[in-house]
Amino acid sequence: MCLLPPGGRGDCRIRANREGRVQCLTYGRPCSLAVDPVEKKPFFHYLPGSRIFSLATVGCNLHCQNCQNWEISQARPEEAPAHDLPPEQVPVLARQQGCAAVAYTYTEPLVCFEYTCDCARACREAGVRNAIVTAGYVNPEPLRQLCRVLDAVTLDIKAMSDPFYREVCGASLAPVLRTIEILLAEGVYLELSNLVIPTCNDSDDMLRDLCRWVVAHAGAETPFHFLRFFPLHEMTELPPTPVATLVRAREIAHAEGLRHVYVGNLDLPGGEDTACAGCGQVLIRRRRYAILENRLCDGACPACGHAVHGVWK
Ligand SMILES: [Zn+2]
Repeated sequence: MCLLPPGGRGDCRIRANREGRVQCLTYGRPCSLAVDPVEKKPFFHYLPGSRIFSLATVGCNLHCQNCQNWEISQARPEEAPAHDLPPEQVPVLARQQGCAAVAYTYTEPLVCFEYTCDCARACREAGVRNAIVTAGYVNPEPLRQLCRVLDAVTLDIKAMSDPFYREVCGASLAPVLRTIEILLAEGVYLELSNLVIPTCNDSDDMLRDLCRWVVAHAGAETPFHFLRFFPLHEMTELPPTPVATLVRAREIAHAEGLRHVYVGNLDLPGGEDTACAGCGQVLIRRRRYAILENRLCDGACPACGHAVHGVWK
């Protein structure tokens, strides 16, 4: 929705008005290519233990003061090195690396919408799955279009607070909530994350409001990741999130009814384990993104038979 004056660019800095035509400057020009454990995205209930081919292009339509990838998310395309990678090559590279899925990640994959869509289409045709890691700040029409070729989403919800989105992220809350509703209506697999920042979004009330909304709108079985904040970018005056805060956040989430709550960016014993929502037994043990044990049988608990929410193969 940015207005681009002649020669000007949008808020994401990757979309330019060149002689009256809108041009996407990062199309086919990813700045990062890597292979990651799927757990690192984070996905904990989606193909656990698998490797995911990760791809990023410069740019974001949020401007979070605490961004951990600000060197590429807030850059102009000409400031970052880039590979030449046409969409049809993406599934080929993913396969070569032994990956069953591609993640569009590290920056905001929705701002280079045309490229993300074309890559996802090429992957879908080749039988490779598509996942995005996003802040979800997008209009409904392009989102629905992307959903046709999208398998999974990890959405980072910054806080259940519009003032927080405006002051810390340069965005607003309502479009993000609308994105979650559309993803679920379109049948896309969803996990949610929340970066807990000391004094900014870590009050009991804010954590409770967030969890309550998720239970009511996405469901109690939605995997939810509380992530530890580290002082970065323009937010260096705050300390890393205290361990006690993350433990409290998880307790609040459990009290609000969320079944699968994880703590990330922190080596907390049991903080990455998946328990059965039926009988409570630990089914998957993880440590620092690695699977130590997986007792699931065809996506179900071997003790009580409860089908665990997720995509397991
Ligand atoms: Zn069970």
